[in-house]
Amino acid sequence: AAPILRTDALVVGAGPVGLFQAFQLGLLGLSVQIVDALPQAGGQCVELYADKPILDIPGIVESSGRDLTDRLLAQLAPLAPGWHLGQEVTRLARRDDGRFDAACADGTAFDAGAVFICAGVGAFQPRRLKAPGLDGLEGRHLHYHPGTAPAALARFAGQRVLVIGGDEAALLRAAALAERDDLPAVQLMHRRDVLQADAALLARIDALRQAGRIVFHAAQLAAARQDEAGRLLQVDIALPDGSARTLDLDTLVVCQGLSPRLGPIADWGLAMDRKLLVVDPATFETSVPGIHAAGDIAGYPGKRKLILCGFHEATLAAHAAHERLRPDERGPLLYTSSSALLQRRLGRI
Ligand code: FAD
Repeated sequence: AAPILRTDALVVGAGPVGLFQAFQLGLLGLSVQIVDALPQAGGQCVELYADKPILDIPGIVESSGRDLTDRLLAQLAPLAPGWHLGQEVTRLARRDDGRFDAACADGTAFDAGAVFICAGVGAFQPRRLKAPGLDGLEGRHLHYHPGTAPAALARFAGQRVLVIGGDEAALLRAAALAERDDLPAVQLMHRRDVLQADAALLARIDALRQAGRIVFHAAQLAAARQDEAGRLLQVDIALPDGSARTLDLDTLVVCQGLSPRLGPIADWGLAMDRKLLVVDPATFETSVPGIHAAGDIAGYPGKRKLILCGFHEATLAAHAAHERLRPDERGPLLYTSSSALLQRRLGRI
């Protein structure tokens, strides 16, 4: 079994608030492990509006969702938390000694002094493809939102791939695959003839279609066929005029959107009100002492689901946890602008 990671703080969720939560905890000298179900940090900012401008972060006149995430990651980097991306925290239980046992679906286990749930609207899960004949293909011939790094795409070498979806996530993967010279032309299928992405990506897709590297179908999946060994052979697609076509394929890459699922968090015995974790706005502690919540998942009178509010919540949660975990360190509030201790932690001196 994997070793149990002992940490002062476990942060569940690496959206903007989870990242700043980890920063505030690290600044107070606490060790941090951070987990996110997605393969990258940024939460909604990266998943839902990576390239849109955010205009209401104090002091940052404009940043895109991705840019804000990059800035938060750079700010956090000197504090070097432990990272666990692509993993969902499924289990959380308070022990008799007041510490917490937590575990991810893959078996990664934590022994944490305090827990910070910054889970936003839940762990993003891919919308599943539904059609007869798909059973057992996932992970072998059916991939949801695979990574776009060259190393992640190399697994598709030599394969006949059908990318399903019509938004940026699908088009990015179709383009990246079609631009490789180690696989045949890529098929792209969306239920409508309208694709949604920024102008540059749409132009890239158009050029690849004209070059014959992407073959587009406005259609929907009707059924898939496998051979006796469970290998994908063909799919039937239904066209809007009612006709059908059969495509010979090796692999389906599916990007039909991600939907958040609160999932296991609802089973951790924490008081909830309309899908939000009820918190005390002085400490951002949930109904279980030592488990805090900040960001979109936290509910209290006057709550607004804004990034800036999440930053405030995370800061007070970190200070409350620090007082509980390190009562002997209680002292005056330190400023980053004048405290040598904080500057040292941030690698400035
Ligand atoms: P999220 O960003 O939702 O991140 C939560 C993370 O937790 C996710 O990555 C999820 O995968 C992970 N997670 C959940 N459960 C688990 C689990 N069990 N295990 C592991 N990981 C888990 N706000 C503004 O202030 N200004 C804006 O201009 C603005 N524009 C917006 C535009 C759009 C289109 C949308 C949808 C929102 C916008 N918001 C804006 C709101 C803002 O994005 C949210 O308030 C913010 O993302 C909340 O951050 P968070 O870290 O709490 O949650």
